[in-house]
Amino acid sequence: MSQGLLSTAYLAAGILFIFCLGGLSRHETARRGNLYGIIGMGIALVATFFSVQFDGVYMWLFGAVAVGALIGTWLALKVEMTSMPELVAVLHSFVGLAAAVVGINSYLESHGGHGAEVTIHLIEVVLGVFIGGVTFTGSVVAYGKLAGKIRSKPLIMPGRHMLNLAMIIAATVLGVLIVQGGMPHTQTTLVYLLVILGISFFIGWHMVMAIGGADMPVVVSMLNSYSGWAAAATGFMLSNDLLIITGALVGSSGAILSYIMCAAMNRSFVSVILGGFGDSGGGPAAGGAAAQGDLEYTSTSIDETAERMANAKKVIVVPGYGMAVAHAQHPVKQITDMLIENKCDVQFAIHPVAGRLPGHMNVLLAEARVPYDIVHEMDDINNQFEETDVVLIIGANDIVNPGALEDPSSPIYGMPVLEVWKAKKVIVMKRSMGVGYSGVDNPLFYKENTDMLFGDAKASVDGILTALGNFLKS
Ligand code: NDP
Repeated sequence: MSQGLLSTAYLAAGILFIFCLGGLSRHETARRGNLYGIIGMGIALVATFFSVQFDGVYMWLFGAVAVGALIGTWLALKVEMTSMPELVAVLHSFVGLAAAVVGINSYLESHGGHGAEVTIHLIEVVLGVFIGGVTFTGSVVAYGKLAGKIRSKPLIMPGRHMLNLAMIIAATVLGVLIVQGGMPHTQTTLVYLLVILGISFFIGWHMVMAIGGADMPVVVSMLNSYSGWAAAATGFMLSNDLLIITGALVGSSGAILSYIMCAAMNRSFVSVILGGFGDSGGGPAAGGAAAQGDLEYTSTSIDETAERMANAKKVIVVPGYGMAVAHAQHPVKQITDMLIENKCDVQFAIHPVAGRLPGHMNVLLAEARVPYDIVHEMDDINNQFEETDVVLIIGANDIVNPGALEDPSSPIYGMPVLEVWKAKKVIVMKRSMGVGYSGVDNPLFYKENTDMLFGDAKASVDGILTALGNFLKS
């Protein structure tokens, strides 16, 4: 394929990626946006394949790509929506590792040369290896925390800020020595590069280990951003324009998402990076189960819940992580249809960090074909709870915790939440009195107007559906 054709194909793919991001920013256009992305990636792959001569070594590469594609397809087909965040974290780690490996390879391959071009290339190598290393271990730890294999509580090492600073200074000094050393590399400068890689591994691990509880959503989008910058650095090293464009798009959109998530959590980006959210100095978390003392809660039944809903004029549904785990979204949609037919005003309230992935609840509700116009973001619906007869909370916990607003000793104090307790009746569907992701007990469960409906969310929603049908028929 000629260079001109290749550039045109890359340009077309880059434009399609921009359309893809534009489309993904709204429910109504998300499907189309996804299609643009798929077509863009298809063009990029075909153009890249036809731009190289397939001789000996490339045939091996072709085999590796085929195996990778098969594994990727299998994983994507079998992954549950609830495990999507872990999969995304693992994929970010691959991007980081690839950037680090390409950086080291590019350094080993570099021959002699002088001048600005060499300096720029060496800066690309150092940055690519560093960002790639941080992204790799950071994403592996994020995977562990999201999958519950590593505890979500932040790891707070003594003098951690000084340690991080010392590491960054050491990596910078070594990077400057590598750039000053020029090309070709020596044994010593190669060791410097490997030490930078080791430092970046440590920083990635340490940084994400120190971030805990409710700050994890920001970490996921931050690592998404890092993986984009790592890909852009790889693009510079390989002189691949499309990789630079794609990396910059992922990097900047991830950074914007991190900013939006920070605003939603009422946290500054710097305080998230510095970590420690939800840490209470090693003792039991304030606002935890112990803090509730002997407070009592009331529980309700499926029939009682269905009857309340049949008589309600306005119902707000609050979905959370438990709805995703239980796959309860489809019967929820059927209940919604029934209530609307019964002249009830039904709305959905979505917290920005509900579930385990930005947009998690929106995807599930879209899959169940819940109309977009009754699905509202937190800021748009918080003022409607007061006039609501029944709030149905399906497997949500942290996002409806009043302690975040009312209890300065709560580890999640300051995080905006859905103010469900202002409604006339709140029904919380979950399996036990257990805590949510942040590990903080929820005073909502003990409020006078709250009833607990225990059981798996799918079983409870199915039960309500049947009971509601009977009530409305009779
Ligand atoms: P939470 O994790 O706070 O609570 C979910 C609740 O669902 C649990 O208390 C659990 O209670 C219940 N549950 C679990 N399985 C079931 C089931 N099968 N049936 C019924 N209930 C079930 O989820 P929220 O959505 O309220 O809040 C999200 C949390 O996750 C926040 O802390 C957020 O910061 C964090 N997070 C969000 C990310 C994002 O990008 N959205 C990423 C990473 C973390 P029980 O065990 O008693 O059933």
